[in-house]
Amino acid sequence: MQDTTICALATPPGPGGIAVVRISGPEAFEMAARVFCPASPGRTLQGAKGYTALFGHFYRAGQRCDETVALCFRAPKSYTGEDVVELSCHGGPAVVEQLLAACREAGAAPAGPGEFTRRAFLNGRIGLTQAEAVMGLISAAGRQGAALSAAALDGALAREIDGLKTKLTSLLGHLDAWVDFPEEDVPALAPGAFCAAVSEAAAVLAGLLRQYGAGAVLRRGVDTAIVGRPNVGKSTLLNLLAGFERAIVTPLPGTTRDVVEQAVSLGGSGIRLNLADTAGLRETGDLIEAEGIRRGRAKLEQAGLVLAVFDASRPADAEDLALAKACEGRCALALLNKSDLPARFDEGVIAPYFAGPGGAALPGDTAGQNNMDGRDGTAAGGGARRDGEEKPEAGRILHLCANDPAHRARLAAAIEKLLGTAAVDVGAAALVSERQHAAALAAKGHLDAALAACREGYGLDAAGVCLEDALAALCELSGESASEAAIEEVFSQFCVGK
Ligand code: GDP
Repeated sequence: MQDTTICALATPPGPGGIAVVRISGPEAFEMAARVFCPASPGRTLQGAKGYTALFGHFYRAGQRCDETVALCFRAPKSYTGEDVVELSCHGGPAVVEQLLAACREAGAAPAGPGEFTRRAFLNGRIGLTQAEAVMGLISAAGRQGAALSAAALDGALAREIDGLKTKLTSLLGHLDAWVDFPEEDVPALAPGAFCAAVSEAAAVLAGLLRQYGAGAVLRRGVDTAIVGRPNVGKSTLLNLLAGFERAIVTPLPGTTRDVVEQAVSLGGSGIRLNLADTAGLRETGDLIEAEGIRRGRAKLEQAGLVLAVFDASRPADAEDLALAKACEGRCALALLNKSDLPARFDEGVIAPYFAGPGGAALPGDTAGQNNMDGRDGTAAGGGARRDGEEKPEAGRILHLCANDPAHRARLAAAIEKLLGTAAVDVGAAALVSERQHAAALAAKGHLDAALAACREGYGLDAAGVCLEDALAALCELSGESASEAAIEEVFSQFCVGK
């Protein structure tokens, strides 16, 4: 238990319907009572039970300031595990400032970033993986991302890690008994059974690691660059995804001279794409356009997802080829736009650069799972599409008509498939931070080393050493043995009031 009592605004700063100031600590009720006075005579804050609400007003320097509702939580049944009073007033910045000042004058110390959640962790209310889930839930960009973090907050990851630890501890116990007490008749552990158990644990970790990239996309969204030559339909594509006329569309090349940005929510999973429509990539003597193109190239370099647009009604040229090459190995989708016009684009020219897994930007992306469903395209290496020809589309190539709203759903499905988000089970255990990913990767590495030790005939005691390392990495992952620095790092990412 901490001996200070802290306060902070728990709702976002700025005007709002209501604002909530949270007070937590051993003197929460005494301090709140110096600020808040119930409207019903005879009722007092100090006498209030946990999980009750009182209506009244808050006061500063003897002046009545605003109507207030006080929500009471008694230790240990509160978010932090301490006595907590939440005071809700009208959400005007001046009112909130008065309430916060009144709480400070009553003796509450201003809370540091993440201090409420840190106290919940220190008081054993939540584990470190759950604290990270709180962070994920607060910052989730889309519905599915929020669901993913909610499952972690519910303890899905903590339970999965506990299961793995129990399995490895029991294996190690058996090994130790067998090595230390040979005369005690401990049944020998068959290498086959040992390897099967270790492989099973490694497979669980491999599954978590595989889903990490797609989960990160669900939680945070993905920076997406729309690139291509002038006039291929990039701005039309941005407008299709945005669902309104965000960018100016004209038949004139060079209309988009700077980067136009728009966040959109996509498909069934509600992934957030932070779209950047860039100036058409071409040689130009126009200084302003050249700067726009430089910014466009920078967006292409930084993007987690590239939507490379080509004009399917014109033959592919050197600039198209250069763009395709820039997409090689990236998480990129080739969009052959203007599919309503007669096809003249030889997609065989670009197909090799969109054939691979391209998951460099997405740790959770898996090779071979990202082929687009065929509709009206040609196979890789084929020539221009001939009317009436029905072949599956190759790799990551999608034929599109960006000015037809009916194509939005197809495009959304293709993007979700490429990002792997459609396959994520948001109710299942998932890694929700870089810290967790690094610890899971280390644990998996030690399990793989244990399996290699068995395969190479080093004996089960050598494998046991690797298992101990794996167990230590899992304890780090769950937070039981996380260093002070690691814990500090987790809470430093929170904002004040959380
Ligand atoms: P950008 O320079 O790449 O941003 O291209 P725009 O989005 O400004 O589009 C250039 C021109 O192509 C405009 O006249 C659009 O209406 C037209 N266009 C865009 N997409 C399509 C499409 O799918 N089919 C047809 N026929 N025209 C399109």
